[in-house]
Amino acid sequence: MRIVLVGPPGAGKGTQAAYLAKNLSIPHISTGDLFRANISQGTDLGKQAKAYMDAGDLVPDEVTIGMAEDRLEQPDAAHGFLLDGFPRNEFQARALDEYLQRRSIALDGVLDLEVPEDEVVRRIAGRRTCRNDSAHTYHVEYKKPKAEGVCDECGGELYQRVDDAEDKVRNRLEVYHRETEPIIDYYKQQNLVATISALGPVAEVTKRAMDALRRE
Ligand code: AMP
Repeated sequence: MRIVLVGPPGAGKGTQAAYLAKNLSIPHISTGDLFRANISQGTDLGKQAKAYMDAGDLVPDEVTIGMAEDRLEQPDAAHGFLLDGFPRNEFQARALDEYLQRRSIALDGVLDLEVPEDEVVRRIAGRRTCRNDSAHTYHVEYKKPKAEGVCDECGGELYQRVDDAEDKVRNRLEVYHRETEPIIDYYKQQNLVATISALGPVAEVTKRAMDALRRE
């Protein structure tokens, strides 16, 4: 399956993407994770992306699209993938369509995770992320790790992403409404969108997502 996951920051895209990718045996491709890996490795690409990310703005399209296409070229993505955080605007969506057309392949579905705005801010402001794997996330009130500051799953250090600070979250939400939401309509015109609620226990949301994808 070839799937795109969309939803506002804090919808739980990373968490759901990790479960869905595992269930469907396809790679989870997160452009945010790819940028963060480049930043921690000190690459030129990471240097170009860092200021935009810290501010909660989109990294320029030419950098992002090139990086995403390089990742899609890897052999593990040949028969399917779950894109998390890409595309994030209409220009990127069109670039992805052109890329897929060149390879005579197409998306099977676009999963749209819906969550109310006040819930987004509450989730993100208290979020703590594992340095080893950004799908390992905690919350200072709602999902505390067993030992403070340490990831239950892999022992990695937990930290607050710079772009998870409240003022950055507001900007990310604005960027989401302005830039990313229009791609939902773009994909609706292709009949690809399944919208599900991202509220409730993680396992329930995963079940909703799997049911929706089976219908696609
Ligand atoms: P995420 O981990 O998906 O929340 O992404 C974190 C940050 O990485 C975003 O706020 C952007 O600055 C950058 N980013 C990730 N994906 C994209 C994309 N498709 N286009 C532009 N910037 C992106």
